[in-house]
Order: sequence, then structure tokens, then C-alpha cells
Amino acid sequence: MIHEIEPHKFNNEFKIVDPKPTDYLVVFFGDKSLLKKNGNSFEIPKVEDFNQGNIPCHYLFSIDDAAYFLADFSISKELVENASDDYVLCPARTYRYMGDPLLRMGGATAAHIAHWESLNQFCGRCGNATIRGEKERSIVCPKCGNVVYPRISPVVIVAVRNGDKLLMAHNIDNPNPRLFLISGFVEIGDSLENAVRREVMEETGLRVKNIRYFGSQPWPFSDSIIAGFTAELDGDDTIHMQASELSEAMWVKREDIPEYETDVSISCCLIENFRRGFTL
Ligand SMILES: [Zn+2]
Repeated sequence: MIHEIEPHKFNNEFKIVDPKPTDYLVVFFGDKSLLKKNGNSFEIPKVEDFNQGNIPCHYLFSIDDAAYFLADFSISKELVENASDDYVLCPARTYRYMGDPLLRMGGATAAHIAHWESLNQFCGRCGNATIRGEKERSIVCPKCGNVVYPRISPVVIVAVRNGDKLLMAHNIDNPNPRLFLISGFVEIGDSLENAVRREVMEETGLRVKNIRYFGSQPWPFSDSIIAGFTAELDGDDTIHMQASELSEAMWVKREDIPEYETDVSISCCLIENFRRGFTL
């Protein structure tokens, strides 16, 4: 999964430090990041790549000794406009396909923080310009005292088993045509288990039992953390698909499930767990 980078160490303890020339500098403009072309792939630029004096920026986190900084939004436009043709603005999902797992995790996480900061440049309560908190990762309104913490929206995903069959589906918004699992955002008032029951019922009309926690992963591309579960069908196996959410939903026999790569998403890990015959 995207966060599994052991033995490398992800350190996101909040602190305020100055950048070194070799540290990564994420330039976020609109809802995209400025990346450096390298053949058919992209690299995250470093502080030393920008021929300017001290670029106003702030520390985000580090992976081993590689620190990630975010250029202040006050300078983003200028950095983008002055960038050479080697640079291009890319959506956050570009990080997902980076071959280096450290850059994949680092870039996507930086983009998640940048997205949150970009949406909170002004106070949602009084409209005043905000500032970054100095003691923890937060955004503060100096006028009314409103404090905003990082937006991390919980999502549940569930592998529902019916004997040797797995409930698989395709979300209409997913450009990837492969079948995945039932998932959805946790609503206010939900427990995680209730969100699992509710999402399965809403999207397929099925009831589930024996809900078990499987694991979790950060999913920066939707500002989320995803909690994965397994469950068993409870009763009637007739699927009533919610066409506003799904384009396909079906029971797939274990031997008919193709192999899924498990290096990025918990969805694929759950599917592979079932496909390889492990007990859900
Ligand atoms: Zn305010």
C-alpha cells in the first residue's frame, strides 16, 4: 500500500525548520503541483532547482533525511510563470503513478496538505485572511480565533464474501475500468461498521454480517483515510445496483478474479487476500 515504505521512515511530527538546497519543494498552484519532466516520468523539484533567493516556504514532513517543503501560495504564481519548459503542472494523481515509492508517498502526502491549506486561506467563519498555526499543524484566523485542522475524510471499503464469491463493483466515477469493492465516505453520525452496512445496502441492496477490521491506509487523492473491512453476506444474494453510483456490481467467483497489484491501494490488497484463498 502507498504508505508501506519500510524500512524508510515517514516523520510527520510538526516542526518549523528552514529548508536545505537539496530538500524537495512542492509548488502548488490551483489544485495542481509543479513537477519536473524526466523522460516519460516526473520528478519533484528541489529547492536548488529554483534560481531565486530565499523562497518563502514551510516544512511539511520528511521521509528519512529527505524533507518536503511547500512554497507559500504568495509565491506560487511567480514560480510557475518563471519555470522553464521542463516543468509542468500536474494533478495529485500523477504522484500515484511515480515509480519510486518514496516519491509516491511523499508527493501525494504533500499534495494533500497543500490542497487543505489552499482551501483555507480565508476564514470560513469571518472571511479574514488566515495564518498557519505555530504549535501544531493547523490554520488559525487571527481575527476571530477559528482553528482549522487538516481535512482527512474517513472512507470505508469492504470485501463482502458469499461462499467462494466476492462482491465486486465498478464506480461510475472511476476512470479505471476494473472491478473493485464497495466503498464510500463515512457520514456524520456513522460508526465505521455502520458505514459499511449502509454503503453495501445503498449500493447493492445486500445485508452483511461478521464485519471485521482488515487495516487502513491514507488516501491523499481524496483527502481521505480508508478503513478496510471484510464481511459476509447475510441472507438474500440478489443485487439491486444503485445506478447513480455504480456501473457494475456482481458476485465474482474466486477463480475468475484476475491478479491485482498490491503496492498502492488497500482495495487491491483486500481483493488479493480473497483471491489467494485467505479467510476473510
Ligand atoms: Zn475568522
